Amino acid sequence: MIDAHCHLQFPQLETLHPLLAQQMRHAGISAAIVNGTCEADWPNVFYLCHQQPHFFYPAYGLHPWKISNRSPQWSETLENFLRAEPNASIGECGIDHWRKDIPKSDQREVFATHAALSSKLDRPMSIHGLKAWGAIYEVLANIKALPPFLLHSYSGPREMIAPFAALGAYFSFSAYFFEPRKAATCEMFRHIPFDRLLLETDAPDMKGPASFFPEHSHHPFHHPLTLPRTAELLASHLALPTAQLIEQSSSNARRLFRLELQSFPCSPSVTWSIKRTAP
Ligand SMILES: [Zn+2]
Repeated sequence: MIDAHCHLQFPQLETLHPLLAQQMRHAGISAAIVNGTCEADWPNVFYLCHQQPHFFYPAYGLHPWKISNRSPQWSETLENFLRAEPNASIGECGIDHWRKDIPKSDQREVFATHAALSSKLDRPMSIHGLKAWGAIYEVLANIKALPPFLLHSYSGPREMIAPFAALGAYFSFSAYFFEPRKAATCEMFRHIPFDRLLLETDAPDMKGPASFFPEHSHHPFHHPLTLPRTAELLASHLALPTAQLIEQSSSNARRLFRLELQSFPCSPSVTWSIKRTAP
């Protein structure tokens, strides 16, 4: 299975490295898209992903909560990171109207810059949205030749699934949606087209309820190894065999992020590895 959105570069997870990649592989995770959030953490994403090539895949972007600290040359720096790495996607970026302290116009302008870069460089985006689905839709609908994109931890209305999907949206599910107060979001996920559904942790954020994840409840952060349990729980919620959900969501993630499974005949114990195809 593939973790379509996480932040393994965050300091809370520092103590888990360097065993983490090995433990993730052991748990059946075959790739993770590691999202930057600000100019200061892009080098850490770069470093981490170069430690585990073809397993951790980088994404670079300005999270809407962090745009206030952007430098005047942020978009040039972003483009440089992306051009240097054909493996990289764009994210985390987006619009968040739940945060009243960040001017809407600034958020929209920064997100529109990411969307324009996505089209210019033909890279998928990983998008954060909160109470701003209309604004996000407007920006995306105005971009010509927009590549497919991920609405990570999608919590928008059911009526917007089809219009977003028509623009090329994929939707990822996070463990946090098992919180009782998120029951409506969990329900909404029954209506996501199966060929657009992805799994994510958003680790170290978006921790799931302790009763659903007892093994990892003692961690003060969302542990990346919760993904298999999330897959199992979501499969049960959707009344699907877990293996079918894992196979379909992995295939969806490979298509969106242009990952390609390759077999190696060298050793029976090393049968699979993941390689990113050129855009
Ligand atoms: Zn995130």
